[in-house]
Amino acid sequence: MRYLSTRDNNLKVTAFDAIVKGLAPDGGLYTPESIPRLQPSRDMARLGYPERAAKVMGMYLDGWDCDDILAMANKAYEPSKFGGSPAPVTAFDDTSHLLELWHGPTCAFKDLALQMLPHLLTKSLKLSGETRTACILTATSGDTGKAALEGFRDVPGTAIMVFYPHGGVSETQKLQMTTQRGSNVNVAGVVGNFDDTQTGVKKIFSDPGMAEYANSRNCFFSSANSINWGRVMPQISYYYSGYLDMINSGAASHEINVCVPTGNFGNILSAYIARAMGVPIKRLICASNSNDVLTEFINTGVYNRRREFFTTYSPSMDILVSSNLERMLYIVSDGDSEFVSEKLGELQSQGRYEIPDSMRRKLSDVFFAGCCDDARTLEYISETYKSKNILIDPHTAVACAVYSDYRRETGDKTPTLIVSTASPFKFCGAVLKALGENGYTSPISKLEQATKLSAPESLKKLSELDERFLKVLQKDEMSDSVREWLS
Ligand SMILES: *Cc1c(COP(=O)(O)O)cnc(C)c1O
Repeated sequence: MRYLSTRDNNLKVTAFDAIVKGLAPDGGLYTPESIPRLQPSRDMARLGYPERAAKVMGMYLDGWDCDDILAMANKAYEPSKFGGSPAPVTAFDDTSHLLELWHGPTCAFKDLALQMLPHLLTKSLKLSGETRTACILTATSGDTGKAALEGFRDVPGTAIMVFYPHGGVSETQKLQMTTQRGSNVNVAGVVGNFDDTQTGVKKIFSDPGMAEYANSRNCFFSSANSINWGRVMPQISYYYSGYLDMINSGAASHEINVCVPTGNFGNILSAYIARAMGVPIKRLICASNSNDVLTEFINTGVYNRRREFFTTYSPSMDILVSSNLERMLYIVSDGDSEFVSEKLGELQSQGRYEIPDSMRRKLSDVFFAGCCDDARTLEYISETYKSKNILIDPHTAVACAVYSDYRRETGDKTPTLIVSTASPFKFCGAVLKALGENGYTSPISKLEQATKLSAPESLKKLSELDERFLKVLQKDEMSDSVREWLS
């Protein structure tokens, strides 16, 4: 299987090249030239998570040894990192279940891909004969940064630098990054929002001067953001796993819907691909917070990033430029890379683009889109806790709220998997506020007391660790800070 740049069909590379490079040299996103089929069979339903994941990923890694892929998945998802089950399905209401993706080392769904990516990258470096150090530059809206740091810490042949929006992440998210251990890691805050940090990183990637400098230090740049296909691929697996678990438990008999709290469009794109591969998913429900650029896009066909940016209680979704939508455009235009280039060009020059109505209808046959503001997010956390005794984080609450809108508007009672993307203990401030508890200096222990639940150990220990990375940069200082780091 070959991978093509979304902006140039003539740029074809192998899986290992796509993973090593992260971003295509023309700024496009590597996307498989065709989507393979894999029926979620009875046999697959009997397998454990790593085996299911290895089967799915194997479809995209032809030429790789199956036993190798399974060995990597076994290491990535071992019980010492994810407890008993990396992606358990739990009951939520009469028609829906939660797919809990926050049982990994950093308590958010990014772990499922970022514990796997270092194995994929290490193997890809070998296959491609690359001997320079892979310097991974990562922009984060809050959770990717920590998950990538944890995945790549002390991995030979790699180094990682993370940029997060200063003031734009939760206190816990910030501490997770600034206290990171490891000898090959670096972290800096950037004055601006996530889009600024993502733009800054993409600029470094496409700057020949920076590439040359990295090369002179025996390094090259790669990405751990979901622009890297190696991030998307492991995420497809948990949609198979969630569906098979629903079938196994009798929660679903045939079709399901999937509802995803969405920011950069990486997670829901993975669900779309699982659907195209053969998981019987009827509708994909795309849930946004007040940064509702995707809601408008799916409902009207207009993508317009020129709008107010909101800092919300669900910071990992505070995004106005959803990178992975580019792959969706590529797929929905039947691989028309000229069309994608043109639209992305308009986004850059005018801040907006519009797709033809025929294409918009194709999207809205599959996707339902809705949004939920901060006030309703808190109401949802509180109501869910009171009526169901289930504590959800603000991102998951956005998804649950939009799912209830979907039910009301469509009357569709198809069993639905709502993706639960983070532990509520990562967002104690907002969750305590939702529960009516305010102004505590040690919110984690307060939330434990208030709910009688225990927080993940890794989060409890944070307050005892020294902060190693206190640097805050201006946007235009990002390149220089990378140079300094490499030297
Ligand atoms: C990253 C993240 C999201 C958004 O996922 P995308 O792939 O960017 O759409 C949602 N919730 C949480 C907790 C996240 O960390």
